[in-house]
Amino acid sequence: MKLAANLSRLGTESAFEVLARANAIDREAAAKGQPRMINLGIGQPDFPTPAHIVEAAVKALQDGHHGYTPANGISELREAIAADIKKYRGVEVNPDQIVAVPGGKVTMSFAIMMFGEPGTEIMYPDPGFPIYRSMIGFTGAKAVPMPLREENGFSFDADEVLAAITPRTRLIIVNSPANPTGGNVSRAEVEKLVAGLADFPDVVVMSDEIYSRMTYGAPHVSFLEFPEIRDRLIMLDGASKTYAMTGWRLGWAVWPGDLAELATRMAINIHSCVNAATQYAGIAALTGPQDAVDTMMTAFAERRRYITDRLNTLPGVSCIEPLGAFYAFPNITGTGMTAREFQNQVLADAHVATIAGTSFGDMGEGFIRFSYAASLEAITEALDRVEAFLKAR
Ligand code: PLP
Repeated sequence: MKLAANLSRLGTESAFEVLARANAIDREAAAKGQPRMINLGIGQPDFPTPAHIVEAAVKALQDGHHGYTPANGISELREAIAADIKKYRGVEVNPDQIVAVPGGKVTMSFAIMMFGEPGTEIMYPDPGFPIYRSMIGFTGAKAVPMPLREENGFSFDADEVLAAITPRTRLIIVNSPANPTGGNVSRAEVEKLVAGLADFPDVVVMSDEIYSRMTYGAPHVSFLEFPEIRDRLIMLDGASKTYAMTGWRLGWAVWPGDLAELATRMAINIHSCVNAATQYAGIAALTGPQDAVDTMMTAFAERRRYITDRLNTLPGVSCIEPLGAFYAFPNITGTGMTAREFQNQVLADAHVATIAGTSFGDMGEGFIRFSYAASLEAITEALDRVEAFLKAR
């Protein structure tokens, strides 16, 4: 068989590979009576979806919502999303500009496929969510890394981004709060980028704001707040992280102008619609009580404090304060190991799963992603083991 050449450029998310290896080591550990694996590699909340959301989905199924829905999502869901955007971002959005899709990744892929083709360039955060680069490569566009540096709190540098724009640049991807760094870009830096983009009217921005509710200091700054780029802004969000709904597959985006129709056409071609029960669950999530989100964030805040303080006591490790999401991204260069060596040795010896920074781009060398979407007891035990491992070397 002759596969399409594009497939050779499709990447992956190595978190899934680490998970498979962690599971294999854990099975062996269980058989031998060794300490079981502690997984700090995973990028999803360790909380169940709140009960009222699950009940809304069950009710939808019992009420007979079994068929296709409009491809862009049922209107009640899109209205609930618009109301949520008004509440948390203070911005009016027309529900007709919103397209609901099966998860944040789908918006990302649609946007990259809309603008990427050979001869074009798309800028993406490095270190950043690996699917950006993978999908850019798939389209044949040139993936241009936007370096995120520890000394800038892992924020982009607006001047550097603007200087890297060429006549071939079609799309710039930004993500704040960020995976894998926990960075949260300041208002000043967002303003600077938006102001500078006035000189590049053909460049589109995709702002991945899937962690927007998960901040610990300054609130998240949405690119939607800037009317001057609304006509070329794709704002990605979804239910996966905020409502602990990763397996339900519900994301959405605000698309500018005709792109909403184009995204809907892509949905019709690829997945038809988000499954109906999930859409009703999404309405309950957005319009119902938010106390489960608050409870989850209180737990994350406590774990964030613990893991950051503790990482800073480990030999050869230092960790700046993560400001959002549920990841710490410590610098491990002082251990003398590469990121991959650290990941693999801690996995094999300490039975703690983490992800090498290089899984998120070349700029991730020297860093490790620890997810604190795990209980405080598990995090404590994991760090005890990592500490013992480092001290024994
Ligand atoms: N964007 C970022 C920055 C993420 O970290 C993730 C998931 O880890 C996603 C998007 C994808 O979310 P979903 O599971 O809704 O596709």
